[in-house]
Amino acid sequence: MGNIIDGKVIAEKIKDEVKKEIEQLKSKGIIPKLVSVSVGENPASIVYMNQQKKNCEKMGIDYEIMKLQEKTDENGIIEAIKKLNEDEKVTGIILQLPLPKGVDTRKVQSKIAPEKDVEGVNPFNMGWIVYGRSTIAPCTALAVKEIIEHLGINLYGKEVVMVGHSDIVGKPVALLLVDKFATVTICHIGTSDAGKLKEHVERAEILIVAVGKANLIPGEWIKEGAIVIDVGINRVGDKIVGDVEFEKAKEKASWITPVPGGVGVITTSILLRNTVLLAKLQKGI
Ligand code: NAD
Repeated sequence: MGNIIDGKVIAEKIKDEVKKEIEQLKSKGIIPKLVSVSVGENPASIVYMNQQKKNCEKMGIDYEIMKLQEKTDENGIIEAIKKLNEDEKVTGIILQLPLPKGVDTRKVQSKIAPEKDVEGVNPFNMGWIVYGRSTIAPCTALAVKEIIEHLGINLYGKEVVMVGHSDIVGKPVALLLVDKFATVTICHIGTSDAGKLKEHVERAEILIVAVGKANLIPGEWIKEGAIVIDVGINRVGDKIVGDVEFEKAKEKASWITPVPGGVGVITTSILLRNTVLLAKLQKGI
């Protein structure tokens, strides 16, 4: 029967380290400052930003929201980001998505100064992952890596199946793990449509799922003893569930992340870690 990976324990460990680093920075008169750029009114973004504010304040990181009007065009958003890039007090920038229709998200993300890109979404930071340097990478991808490291798994030669190939989760996770010499298969909608998802999932020693479809992966597909990392977040009625059929998967997996309480809480603490790391690099520490 599977052990449940307690995301909170891993998150607390990361936060304790971050707290110590912030104390060190403060003793040198440096206070990290994170600014979240939000365009228009998006209820999900507001919830997310309020959480970020609370988390940052608890840690001693200054947090500000820069609210731009819905009608702000691409150039307007880029101008706002450039101002933040130039502001020496601002050490980190988050761009809340989605951006209004007609705005090229990747272009705007590419304007965030790489040294202030706490979410690792600038192509410069993304590109470094290909070269095996993941100092700054998307927070969720780093959260997945953190879980595997926490379990003490040697990835060398392991069969890893990554379901989902998004820019912020699936693709960076695959690159991070292949660099540890895991054999990584990336599955996506094409794999499902070809009727081949089951056969890939069934041979996964480590299965990571980031799709956004409740119960996409039936528990019976899980290989005996596999490690299952469920990134998905789905609302079903008044419940939040992942992409894996948890109760049944738990019976076969050796380790499994719950949703909520798994990857999500770790992702939040990685954002704080990235913020402090970049503040230190900017100040030459
Ligand atoms: P996305 O929405 O950008 O892409 C979805 C991926 O799933 C694509 O690769 C697509 O091809 C694949 N897919 C869709 N239907 C499929 C199917 N039937 N079979 C196989 N693959 C299929 O992905 P994202 O932004 O990485 O988000 C995925 C999920 O992870 C969402 O539920 C999101 O809320 C969640 N998420 C969680 C965190 C966290 O911190 N826990 C962070 C980011 C995203």
